[in-house]
Amino acid sequence: MPADPLEVLRKTFGYPAFRGRQAEVIGHVLKGGSCLVLMPTGGGKSLCYQVPALCLDGMALVISPLIALMHDQVSALELLGVGAAYYNSSLTQAQKQSVRSRARAGGLKLLYVAPETLNTDFFQGFVDGLNISLLAVDEAHCVSQWGHDFRPDYLEAAKLRERLPRTPLVALTATADPATRREIAARLGLERDPVFASSFDRPNLRYEIVPRGSGREQLLEFIRARHSGEAGIVYCLSRKKAEETAAWLSSRGVPSLAYHAGLDAEVRRRHQGRFLTEDGLVVCATIAFGMGIDKPDVRFVAHLDLPKSVEGYYQETGRAGRDGAPASAWMAYGLGDAVQLRRLVEQGEGSPEFKRSQQIKLTRMLGLCEGTDCRRRMLLEYFGEEHAGGCGNCDNCLGQAATFDGTQAARKALSSVARTGERFGAGHLIDVLTAKSTEKTLRCGHERLSVWGVGREYDARQWAGVFRQLVAGGWVDVDAEAFGALRLNPRSWELLKGGATLRLREEAAPQAPRPKVKASATRAVAQAAPAGRDAGVFEALRALRRRLAEEKGLPPYVVFHDATLKEMAALRPRTLEELARIHGVGEAKLAKYGRDFLEALRAAAL
Ligand code: ADP
Ligand code: ZN
Repeated sequence: MPADPLEVLRKTFGYPAFRGRQAEVIGHVLKGGSCLVLMPTGGGKSLCYQVPALCLDGMALVISPLIALMHDQVSALELLGVGAAYYNSSLTQAQKQSVRSRARAGGLKLLYVAPETLNTDFFQGFVDGLNISLLAVDEAHCVSQWGHDFRPDYLEAAKLRERLPRTPLVALTATADPATRREIAARLGLERDPVFASSFDRPNLRYEIVPRGSGREQLLEFIRARHSGEAGIVYCLSRKKAEETAAWLSSRGVPSLAYHAGLDAEVRRRHQGRFLTEDGLVVCATIAFGMGIDKPDVRFVAHLDLPKSVEGYYQETGRAGRDGAPASAWMAYGLGDAVQLRRLVEQGEGSPEFKRSQQIKLTRMLGLCEGTDCRRRMLLEYFGEEHAGGCGNCDNCLGQAATFDGTQAARKALSSVARTGERFGAGHLIDVLTAKSTEKTLRCGHERLSVWGVGREYDARQWAGVFRQLVAGGWVDVDAEAFGALRLNPRSWELLKGGATLRLREEAAPQAPRPKVKASATRAVAQAAPAGRDAGVFEALRALRRRLAEEKGLPPYVVFHDATLKEMAALRPRTLEELARIHGVGEAKLAKYGRDFLEALRAAAL
């Protein structure tokens, strides 16, 4: 009879209840069933195999792609008092031998293995003699050639399944796309087993996409106003920009590091290590950074450049707020991004079909930026999931985006494209619309055109917004070869001939004071952070956590999560019994750290 999962959750992990579909998955596995689990990042996939591993006799094998992560996962389990180890190429022969003996002696409930070690004779002989309770294949999309992260070694997981046909297998992934899901099921022989799919919604993430003015000044303002002293990731398109942004933020008092593939491996390792272990660091990175960053308390992900697809955007923003506490996904983007990315796709490698699909992905991404509907609804719709909208936690729902009937403005903009011969970019067209004389308007004779000065009711910045939205919405084409010259397309003509109308987003002044609604939104975030006396207590607890973590060379969140410390700061438990009721305080951590934290609470209350 397996142990009761709820009891394991409470005693070992210190959590009162299962989340989402965890209880269903665990119930199914404990009955001997196999399944595919689809949950977004931060959804709580690990407990879906860790709890059954603790309930069942024997040892669970967890196949996991990242050596760097195994160490942290195992340390976290050890702190919970769970017998766990990892087995990968970083171990010496003697260390491998020691893992084998511990496993034979029944001292391990979970063993994390790297896929490339699975097919070694050494490993196979070892598994034969053991009681394997469960196979868990983490990041299961790595078996899929269609996925974005195929690893040939992962096919060994499929062979292992053949060797252990009666052992339940749990495959877990955060990849949402249906083709990849089908391939995982086929490769791992899960076609007839249930799929437990959770919503891909991340309710604690606030989505915000703002028109780019100064870019990094806006970023700085955002960090200072909302995430001062907190950990975050800033994504940039180029290595150079990542470095410049990190240096600039640091010079403005926001401690930041750069991370990109062009840096020395040692520097990369050091920067990643500091990000994981120090409180409140910002990393400015290209997309090379992120895979395998399991830090639960990243409070914001910011994009200074447009991602190439909604998948990319979702995956990158998903690295914020894995602990479930409020976090921000913030982006600043401008028309230049769209023009630049389209040009990159056009001039890049690949077949015409491939390029076309890249263009479509980019267009969907632009649609998300410019859309005036609930961002969450648009995002989930992209992944085939319905959402009623009105989430109350995105800029559009918070009323930060005012819209107006932009049909007239759009017609004027398109007329300026037509009258100037479809050979000019937005900058020059804006000069024409607002009657701004330049050497170029004179030389081209554009001051004599009927469209000269017909757009004086808006300023240049507002016109830039109109053009950006026209491009994003596919109402006009950008000629990548001709340096961003705008060209009319069939949809332009629909607008010009009066067959279509268009609502446009009003340009908020980039540095204008925040509108009223925003103030309440900021308050909602502030409520989540400890205030007043709690803040001081929270800081004291953080300092203790940092010290304890340093002694063991672990990231602080492995000791306790921020959410747990915040709850302690708010409730101020005075006895071990009271402390045990705080979320995230299980029996082992209570025994190990309980007195230290009670002492810190007592001292902080003085
Ligand atoms: P994933 O692997 O799906 O990204 P994790 O397994 O790392 O997510 O879990 C994300 C966070 O949520 C972790 O900090 C974990 O401790 C926490 N968590 C998971 N399940 C629960 C639960 N039932 N109650 C409270 N916290 C949970
Ligand atoms: Zn919304």
